[in-house]
Amino acid sequence: MADFVIPAPPVPSIPVSGGGAFPVRRVYCIGRNYAAHAVEMGHDPDRESPFFFQKNPNNLDSSGEFPYPPHSSDVHHEVELVVALKSGGTNIPVDKALDHVWGYAVALDMTRRDLQGEAKKQGRPWEIGKAFERSGPVGPLHPATKVGHPTAGRVELKVNGALKQEGDMNQIIWKVPEMISYLSEYFELQAGDIIMSGTPSGVGPVVKGDKIDAMIEGLGSLSVKVV
Ligand code: MN
Repeated sequence: MADFVIPAPPVPSIPVSGGGAFPVRRVYCIGRNYAAHAVEMGHDPDRESPFFFQKNPNNLDSSGEFPYPPHSSDVHHEVELVVALKSGGTNIPVDKALDHVWGYAVALDMTRRDLQGEAKKQGRPWEIGKAFERSGPVGPLHPATKVGHPTAGRVELKVNGALKQEGDMNQIIWKVPEMISYLSEYFELQAGDIIMSGTPSGVGPVVKGDKIDAMIEGLGSLSVKVV
């Protein structure tokens, strides 16, 4: 072990349904992966090349609370399927990609939309809009050995009981094996990497006091209070 000169930070992790925790190494997020969401964000829904950004592993949070972040007055919810990898590599073929998946979870890609919009306009990176403290509320991870590899099923998000986002995993443009394969051409994927697979349409703002209830069929629900 290295002789650390300051105490080593804790390993970020996601709780596992049934016990234990999944250690997180990297967090890749895909943009515009449901056609209806691409359209609502002002883009062509045709299958363009996928693009990715990252959140920080320690932006993930399973406390059930989302503290409204500073420097934004337009923080949006995005419900997403999380894919967690137990192994990785480079140039992974699409037909071998699912062999690397450990499990799946429900998460939120919370976004400072005003800051992201400003960054887009100026051709700047998205971190300030996407990779802030506790910007990735996440529910328990379900092992693929129990839930299989979902390719269809309802995805929804409610705010204070009102339905805001709905879609189906069968509407995902770049499928889970394709995302893994594509990422592995550009990065060396490893155990502990997770992928947030994009959000269906209906994204919108939250305010302090809101209660967010996200659900993906077969993976249970995630409730988060905005504080
Ligand atoms: Mn997203």
